[in-house]
Amino acid sequence: MRRIQHFINGQHKEGTSGRSSDVYDPATGKVQAQVDLASVAEVHEAVASANKAAVEWAESSLTQRTQIMFRFRELLAARTDELARVISSEHGKVVSDAAGEVARGLENVEFACGIAHHLKGEINEQVSAGIEVYSLRQPLGVVAGITPFNFPAMVPAWMFATAIACGNTFICKPSERDPSASMLIAEWFIEAGLPPGVFSVVNGDKEAVDALIDHEDIAAISFVGSTPIASYVYERATSAGKRVQALGGAKNHMLVLPDADIEMAADAAVSAAYGSAGERCMAVSALVAVGSAADQLVEAISKRIPDVKIGVGTEPDAEMGPLITGEHRDRVAGYVERAQQAGAVAVVDGSTADLPADGFFYGPTLLDKVTADMECYQDEIFGPVLSVVRVETFREAMDLINSNPFGNGTAIFTRDGGVARQFQHEVQVGMVGINVPIPVPVAYHSFGGWKASLFGDTHMYGPEGVRFYTRAKAVTARWPDPASSQIDLGFPQNS
Ligand code: NAD
Repeated sequence: MRRIQHFINGQHKEGTSGRSSDVYDPATGKVQAQVDLASVAEVHEAVASANKAAVEWAESSLTQRTQIMFRFRELLAARTDELARVISSEHGKVVSDAAGEVARGLENVEFACGIAHHLKGEINEQVSAGIEVYSLRQPLGVVAGITPFNFPAMVPAWMFATAIACGNTFICKPSERDPSASMLIAEWFIEAGLPPGVFSVVNGDKEAVDALIDHEDIAAISFVGSTPIASYVYERATSAGKRVQALGGAKNHMLVLPDADIEMAADAAVSAAYGSAGERCMAVSALVAVGSAADQLVEAISKRIPDVKIGVGTEPDAEMGPLITGEHRDRVAGYVERAQQAGAVAVVDGSTADLPADGFFYGPTLLDKVTADMECYQDEIFGPVLSVVRVETFREAMDLINSNPFGNGTAIFTRDGGVARQFQHEVQVGMVGINVPIPVPVAYHSFGGWKASLFGDTHMYGPEGVRFYTRAKAVTARWPDPASSQIDLGFPQNS
């Protein structure tokens, strides 16, 4: 059985804890590898190596960092297909979708290639006679990223690209369900010339996460995952005095008004609800249909569902793969069953779909007549299940969306610019699409939700990422000028 180890100090390192976890191929349902789960001592070893590397890396020139990042960018771009296949084999998403994830991660690396520009400080000349004040941003030291299973390359890239370019060393603790993407990235960074210890991978579970959070040499924690764990990581890591950004789960609403292009909205709903089998934090899971839009949408979506090609990720024409584990597939099926018992109508029931015989597959599901008190509306199901909530007015739709505890992503479909403007202004959600169903911001903006979708102050990557991974220093400077030198015991004032 293939073993997936750790990557510490520039090399693969066999686990010594004696604990490991199964890594499945979700398309066959078979275990394909064992990943080592780090002990506290192994995490400490990774931190010691990252801490040692941090001194020199923080002193490296912007030219050096930029050149390494450009070389890494070239390797990643050239090997997109290789990485996509590895992601698909452990996650289950189809290869074209995995390649899309790599492309979006690549954007973050490209942003980091311009780090010299993003780190420019500010200066005021002559704040007082002969005195300048300037502000700098300096790296934090060792930082760690804890990432979820659903984007095993892109989410780490949200973190490591900026963290490393800013002069920090970075320890990644990927999901134990699909850890191989991070291991490849670590190898490719060494090939690109990154010094050992600047990017490390510790594989593991709660024990490794807690050891990272509690380690006094780690300055900041970035986390992406489910809301309960995000909240836990935020509490524990901030109590330990760390800077923390912890992104949590989601319930993303797509609001469709009767004046929308219904065919376009139906295409968008199918893509955003069933892509990656709904295992995306920006997936649309609640379709809020206003008035007459509802019947038209339900009909248009249910007509499209039979054409979604479900299959093994490596099949060239497959569009939707399996779920991550058998346990998760059963959990999704349970939600669909209970939704029907609660009064929702399964217009399309994924449990009756024509599915591959093996693996953790579940078909696209369309639930109609869902109400806000139902479990299938309230919980993040994280599967290919789209719930249609019917409302009569735009105001009713806004109240529904704004009273939801999550605030990750949302979208409106309409031809009315004034209503779209009102939606964008009033909605209590961090990322908004206008006739765009999955509004993941480009790398030079920042990614983050509101409410229970984000614990912490700064969003991830882009300009907020640079602020998160650096701290500010303001310098007030005066150069000796014999003509103006004098003793003055008063508090310094600007004149
Ligand atoms: P998860 O919360 O189970 O795991 C995330 C990470 O936390 C993993 O590395 C895991 O090993 C670790 N972890 C799990 N249990 C832990 C515990 N008890 N203590 C400490 N660490 C623990 O999430 P997941 O199932 O891997 O990913 C899916 C979730 O992530 C969904 O809720 C999804 O919405 C969310 N997500 C959010 C975003 C976002 O940007 N907001 C992006 C991607 C995924």
